[in-house]
Amino acid sequence: MHELSLSLNTVDTVVAQAQKQGFKRVTKVTLAIGTLSCIEHQALATGFEFASRGTIAEAAIFEIEAVAAKVWCLDCQQYVLIAERGICCPICQGYQLKVEAGEELMIKHIEVE
Ligand SMILES: [Zn+2]
Repeated sequence: MHELSLSLNTVDTVVAQAQKQGFKRVTKVTLAIGTLSCIEHQALATGFEFASRGTIAEAAIFEIEAVAAKVWCLDCQQYVLIAERGICCPICQGYQLKVEAGEELMIKHIEVE
């Protein structure tokens, strides 16, 4: 049910922002989701359908973009981008990685009318 509460929070935020700026309809929402977030995209899409029902975002298209995770590699002392959980550093193959970004959900873009 993680995805459902995320959807509800996201729709709330989107609707509040759009209404504050005087818009009547949200047509499209682009979200960026870190590849390490463990969020099920399909479950999230279903959650949005449910959460946006009866709001000004009801007919909106929810687009989900995956964002590669940014991690600090303790072995080679630099930031590297990794595409999935459990993977090693692409440069030194080390496993001592500290996640800096890639576990979050961000509202990237909202289209309104
Ligand atoms: Zn490394």
